[in-house]
Amino acid sequence: MRCNYCERRCRIASGETGFCRMYTVSQGVITERFPHRWSACGTSRMEAFPFYHVFPGSRSLAIGTTSCNFRCRYCSNAYIAKEDPESQQERMYHLAPREVVAMAKKMSCRTIVFNVNEPTVSLPSLMDLAAEAKAAGIPMGCLTNGFMTAESTELMASIFSFFNVSLKGISKTFGREYIGASSLRPVLRNIERLAGIRHVEVTTPVIEGANDTEIDAIADFLGSVDPEIPWHVFRLLPEDEMRDRDYPSIEAIDAALRSARERLPYLYFHNFVGSDWVNTACPACGTVAIERFSLGCGGDKLNRVLGGEGQCPGCGRAIRLFTHSPHAGDEGAVRTWT
Ligand code: SF4
Repeated sequence: MRCNYCERRCRIASGETGFCRMYTVSQGVITERFPHRWSACGTSRMEAFPFYHVFPGSRSLAIGTTSCNFRCRYCSNAYIAKEDPESQQERMYHLAPREVVAMAKKMSCRTIVFNVNEPTVSLPSLMDLAAEAKAAGIPMGCLTNGFMTAESTELMASIFSFFNVSLKGISKTFGREYIGASSLRPVLRNIERLAGIRHVEVTTPVIEGANDTEIDAIADFLGSVDPEIPWHVFRLLPEDEMRDRDYPSIEAIDAALRSARERLPYLYFHNFVGSDWVNTACPACGTVAIERFSLGCGGDKLNRVLGGEGQCPGCGRAIRLFTHSPHAGDEGAVRTWT
């Protein structure tokens, strides 16, 4: 039987597992192997995630499961993403959706963000959680590699109100050599689709000698979709199979981004202490509307929001922000997978 959650479209025999080892076939149906098991469930400030335009300064409940459908050679989370998920079950939290939502409410979290690994490998649990979270008025967001099928993209748009899609590269060569994906075109397709219906931010971790030559092409693509997509360029500190590589030069990436900044007003460059590319400036007049500190790998911190929320303090132009509850917009119902 074929699993259509992501573009690997694994063929899975009864009792066997697919590439990510998170789904099996049981009674002729693709079934999640470890429902409602979480590798993380704790609070975080929003600026610790690459979500600069979602409820600035708010508290969020960060959750995650295990495994991934990519095999990035530089993975900074390999012990969660690459280890056999079965061997990790002993240390997982087993929490029903209402318990996760109760924790979010108790800790005054404005949102729930799936940020540890790839959500595509745990969609049935996330559908259950989204139903509970929507009833409580808590929007959910996720960090994803964007490699889901077109059908899963629609499903995820019904689960999550805001997305950060990691666009790691754009060329076939990069996808094959560094990620283990034959093509990254599905990621581009899904960014285009999601940007039309949900709040989307994009992240690109830059690895010197691997994808630093693709910065301009990525900027062109994002500009063609929507120049006001917030784009987070990370200086990636390679780990796992590439931990012997040098850290990327801040100066070289800074220089490579200068022309992109002309086209993409919400372009950020972070993952090092003291970056001055972490404020949000008005696309029209350049006045700083949101000020942050860069704390390096620990994420960043809000300093202050100037002017009214979502408005430039200089000229009054709208600054793109996601700040509404799932009941205020066009979120729709959580879909069931067919
Ligand atoms: S979600 Fe997992 S099992 Fe399904 S197609 Fe992707 S890698 Fe294969």
